[in-house]
Amino acid sequence: MSSAITVKLTDNPKMKPTDEGKLGFGRVFTDHMFVCEWNKGEGWHDAKIVPFADLSIHPASTVLHYGAEIFEGLKAYRWADGSVKLFRPTENVRRMNRSAERMGLPQIPEELFLEALLKLVGIDADWVPHGEGTSLYIRPFMIGDDEHLGVHGVSHARFYIILSPSGSYYKGGLAPVRIMIEDHDVRAVRGGTGEAKCGGNYGASVRAGEKAEEKGFDQVLWLDGVEQKYIEEVGSMNIMFKIDGKVVTPALTGAILPGITRKSIIEFLKSKGAAVEERRISVDELAKALEDGKLEEAWGCGTAAVVSPVGVLKYKDKEYVISGGRIGETTQMLYDELTGLQWGKKPDPFGWVVNVK
Ligand SMILES: *Cc1c(COP(=O)(O)O)cnc(C)c1O
Repeated sequence: MSSAITVKLTDNPKMKPTDEGKLGFGRVFTDHMFVCEWNKGEGWHDAKIVPFADLSIHPASTVLHYGAEIFEGLKAYRWADGSVKLFRPTENVRRMNRSAERMGLPQIPEELFLEALLKLVGIDADWVPHGEGTSLYIRPFMIGDDEHLGVHGVSHARFYIILSPSGSYYKGGLAPVRIMIEDHDVRAVRGGTGEAKCGGNYGASVRAGEKAEEKGFDQVLWLDGVEQKYIEEVGSMNIMFKIDGKVVTPALTGAILPGITRKSIIEFLKSKGAAVEERRISVDELAKALEDGKLEEAWGCGTAAVVSPVGVLKYKDKEYVISGGRIGETTQMLYDELTGLQWGKKPDPFGWVVNVK
């Protein structure tokens, strides 16, 4: 397709939120969105930036019945000099295409996706908040949109990008969370859709999350879907442990979402000469390491939280306290390093930061 993205600016710009402390997550949206359509004959066409608005959708649309939906999540960061940056956006573009492949949705050209991201964030750059820890959350998503009820690969799809100014994940500063190891529901199985960022994975995870919340936990830690013995990931984050001085994280088996934060931490630690083991980790190994005093730290990692220290792990009727319920040294260091890169407070030897404007 020709990569010309047309732009129609809004005639009615909205009021920007004045109190950045009240933004929360994903509730406020900017003035514009990116829209593009695909069909089998023409490929991607009609790429445009238009005023943010409701969608019109056929009641038989594939997405409504068979979950033909994939998404991405990244952020735009406002630096102290006023500029706006993205963090490794090409990684999101590539992951979205891997998700598309798994879900029978069309591939989107990398250049078109990147151009759309930069152009849209550029147009709504005034919406990138200024406060400490705040950012503009970027949500690209694709839906299958055939207007009939047969189950099959789609011949129509739509791709969107919407933007949402979001508050700091940590209102009272970095704080340890309480995690419940889920021993009934599973999130994903090998050969399933665990490594695709698709809406269906989240739909199926809500029940366990609610159950954990009722019991006073922040998130669920998922075990493998076959033996329910091995650690996979936590909520919408990957998980890492420091055991006996070494950072270990579950290997990407096909059931785990390959996080860009996970990848960045592994690359960062390796660049410092620190070993990172990607392998299977059983609950039994964790319990034993805890009893032997060798489980030094645990943290979740993902775009939203960056790094989230785990203070308590509950499995069946046992509650284990990690790092004395405090933030571990490596956890804090990784948080400082990654947020330092993202907000331009530390140099970027990796070339991970991309300038928007
Ligand atoms: C998005 C996501 C992650 C984290 O990925 P990042 O690229 O680091 O944000 C982890 N687990 C699940 C299930 C996810 O959807």
